[in-house]
Amino acid sequence: MPYQSPVSPGRSWYEDSVSDRPVYPALDGDRRADVVIIGGGFTGLSAATHLAKAGTSVALIEAYRFGDGASGRNGGQLGTGQRAWAEEQEEELGLTRARALFDLAEEAKAHLLDFTEANGIDIDFRPGQLSVVHKQRYVDDYRRHADIMAERFGYPHISFMNKDETAERLGSTHYFGGTRDAGTGHIHPLKLLVGTAKVAAASGAQLFEQTRSTGIFARNGKVVVETPRGTITADKGLIAVNAYGGDLEPVSAAHVMPIGSFIGATAPLPAGTPVIPGGESVDDSRFVVRYFRKSVDNRLLFGGREIYGVNDPKDIHIHIRRQITEIYPALKDVELTHGWGGYVGITMPRKPFVREVMPNVISAGGYSGHGVMLSNFVGKLYAETVAGNRDRLRLFEELKIPPFPGGRRFRSPLLFLALTWFALRDRI
Ligand SMILES: Cc1cc2nc3c(=O)[nH]c(=O)nc-3n(C[C@H](O)[C@H](O)[C@H](O)COP(=O)(O)OP(=O)(O)OC[C@H]3O[C@@H](n4cnc5c(N)ncnc54)[C@H](O)[C@@H]3O)c2cc1C
Repeated sequence: MPYQSPVSPGRSWYEDSVSDRPVYPALDGDRRADVVIIGGGFTGLSAATHLAKAGTSVALIEAYRFGDGASGRNGGQLGTGQRAWAEEQEEELGLTRARALFDLAEEAKAHLLDFTEANGIDIDFRPGQLSVVHKQRYVDDYRRHADIMAERFGYPHISFMNKDETAERLGSTHYFGGTRDAGTGHIHPLKLLVGTAKVAAASGAQLFEQTRSTGIFARNGKVVVETPRGTITADKGLIAVNAYGGDLEPVSAAHVMPIGSFIGATAPLPAGTPVIPGGESVDDSRFVVRYFRKSVDNRLLFGGREIYGVNDPKDIHIHIRRQITEIYPALKDVELTHGWGGYVGITMPRKPFVREVMPNVISAGGYSGHGVMLSNFVGKLYAETVAGNRDRLRLFEELKIPPFPGGRRFRSPLLFLALTWFALRDRI
């Protein structure tokens, strides 16, 4: 029986195309370390790797298998900058801070590519990103965005595409225009995650799977993490549970909420298919973003976020097929070989949540659908912080992230209502 993540629905194409996924032991007994990390996604494993490489003793626990959360199951799109456009950040934070955040994200992108190359991790990187417009009224914003990025943020890689160019590059006339970013690209996320875990282990990090933390406490100047079969006592702790943390730690739970996002993979498309002939990844201007790309073996991997409660991969197929057919009518009968989902951690302003939530314990997550490069980099910045330089992590810590309204009981229903409202606006 193929393995099925107990916390995310469906089996992914990534799981079937990663050649070697080592199993790590469960924690049994009590341990000590300089740093304890809860959560084995990109944030946690990247932090563990950089800490271990710097000679810090680090123990990381993951409730299930590495990659069972968002990091092993996402769309693999790196994007550019933060989730919000740089000019929107400028309006809110001023040019200096907006540029600092943009530059940090550029460093995150370079870091991801350098790290994988230096450590021999093949992540199937393919260049290019098309961001396309589903309403005529957004076209001018995208045109301006390309200019602003070059003029004010020193990023010359984005060019505007009119309707014809967009149709040609997508192989679909569904959209009204958009931009092409030649300075970014897309990857196989599970290959990155598995490779990072191997580097962490080889560098001396103690890694444990199938080990759920049942609590994290500050005790006698130490951080103590409890699990069903042992404890880890450390000087510092990192909570890296993102959308999967439940009630583990109340401050993180109040600021980071889960939204389901779902992806379908088609059987390989024929050579010479008109679908995205340049091999870029694509995201669109809908609030419920559609994101798609071709895999190295020519499948269309098509993602769309919906707010329905699914656990059955067949439901995922129905919704994803409908969305694919809207854009590519010729694919209405294409075989879908995989359908899977995961939970994206979002915050109210859609910016990362990084905060010291108890003495010597930092929580990081809530990248709001833009975490592939940022989460890996936040892991590195956390290691930098432990080594004594908090300046760059502080750029994230200083972002104003209010808690979701409604308290513990009403947070989820209120979020559901708000998201449903925005999703409806996509159709107007
Ligand atoms: C379907 C989908 C598509 C996406 N597409 C993109 C994209 O194209 N581009 C992009 O930039 N971002 C995308 N994202 C978001 C991106 O995947 C995340 O931002 C990123 O992976 C977050 O990494 P993380 O390590 O913080 O969290 P996760 O990878 O979710 O890891 C958290 C881990 O913590 C573990 N955990 C939780 N509680 C406990 C506990 N008590 N004890 C021990 N372990 C625990 C979980 O099991 C989980 O493995 C997508 C997400 C999804 C779900």
